[in-house]
Amino acid sequence: MTELIHAKLSASGSHRWLNCPASARMEEGFPDTTSSFAEEGSAAHHLAEICLREEKNTDEFLECQFDEYPEHPVDVEMVESVQLYLDYVRNLDGELLVEQRVDFSPWVPEGFGTSDAIVMHEGVATVVDLKYGKGVRVDAEDNTQAMLYALGALNEYDFIYECDLFRVVIVQPRLDHISEWEIKRSDLLEWAENTVKPKAELTLQEEAPFNPGEKQCHFCKANGTCKALAEHALQIAADGFEAVEVPLTVKDITKLSNEEIAVLLPQLKTLTKWVSALETHAQAEAEKGEKFPNHKVILKNGQTSRSWKNDDSAKRALNREFKKLGKEEPTSNPISPAQAEKIIGKTNPLFDKHVVKTTGDAKYKLVHESAKGDPVEINPTEDFEEVA
Ligand code: SF4
Repeated sequence: MTELIHAKLSASGSHRWLNCPASARMEEGFPDTTSSFAEEGSAAHHLAEICLREEKNTDEFLECQFDEYPEHPVDVEMVESVQLYLDYVRNLDGELLVEQRVDFSPWVPEGFGTSDAIVMHEGVATVVDLKYGKGVRVDAEDNTQAMLYALGALNEYDFIYECDLFRVVIVQPRLDHISEWEIKRSDLLEWAENTVKPKAELTLQEEAPFNPGEKQCHFCKANGTCKALAEHALQIAADGFEAVEVPLTVKDITKLSNEEIAVLLPQLKTLTKWVSALETHAQAEAEKGEKFPNHKVILKNGQTSRSWKNDDSAKRALNREFKKLGKEEPTSNPISPAQAEKIIGKTNPLFDKHVVKTTGDAKYKLVHESAKGDPVEINPTEDFEEVA
């Protein structure tokens, strides 16, 4: 008998659970993590929200530091980027709903989300999503997150606005990218009933199927431990040559031809992402004291870096040395010790006087038992007690 599990089916994670129904179950129990990039994005969204609500422009907030995001004060790039989003939203006619919580639970159990901006006007609902990141270009067409927000808008406001058309807009200012797409009410509802609803129900089953793939696995919290992904990645490696349909060249059968490499290259993404996810997971677990057979944890010294004790006096000393050697004075302020070494020589006494060496913190590293270095024991409980 199938059993229902309780999982959060978010709009932002919809690309994943719609493509791999097992991901919702697999991600349960993993803590919510954040990154500096995600925090920066949240700071930009916060700025956008305040500006829209208070009818202000972003330049009024230059160098402001929001209490929630102390690491990401409003800088010039944020001011200019978020203003582009504001300009787009303000150019739309209609009633503006800012950071609107929308409920799409008729299709997704407990499904709700918060849309950056929704504008309702004469039977048309426009869902605008600000993407502050610049790592991956996001397009509006078939964007399931924004489509779920559109469904939420239909669900909650249809009795007032009776929308026939839904416009999805992604504003990604740091890539100078605005993507627009529209979907008819009937098509949106057809997708909701025939794709979203059954997939959401399937996702909540105990034996929801796995479907590994590059996009859905990339940000899945379970990608370091998921067997389905591991098998998929290893299968790609094993099938590599079978996937090459062009015949092996008779010219040199020991080397890959450019045609063969061209077929193999796209497959590497899945493989390398999986390798990186597996390593990250194993390293994090080892740092918590977990043991991996035939492996040990060593303490790796931090990297040593060199810098000038004082930039001004280093620049003056460098200029004197350059003059003595009949070379042109460096124009940058000042050049690095490594660059200077190439010109005035490693043994120049100037380095002893003006350079300071700093060594980063030593770090634990999980390595194979055959690697150099003495194993160290990690006891997170004791480590914590020492710090507490
Ligand atoms: S890693 Fe990939 S296959 Fe595994 S649960 Fe996550 S999305 Fe599905």
